[in-house]
Amino acid sequence: MKCLVCDREAKEKFCMLHDKAYRNVVQKFEDWKRATGISWKEYLKEVAENTFTGSWAKEVAEQLLSEHND
Ligand SMILES: [Zn+2]
Repeated sequence: MKCLVCDREAKEKFCMLHDKAYRNVVQKFEDWKRATGISWKEYLKEVAENTFTGSWAKEVAEQLLSEHND
């Protein structure tokens, strides 16, 4: 199976590098949610649009947002 973001081998959704970024994104969301009550989708948009976000996290956030279309 390939990473959803890049073409590297992945165990589940993401390769090792994007999985690490994904874990960071999820972990930070817990803090943000506690502090601001932000929703998961709003948070992902913030991460994807924030110029200070690392590119790995940004790519992961964009991928998660694309899965999240309603
Ligand atoms: Zn990847």
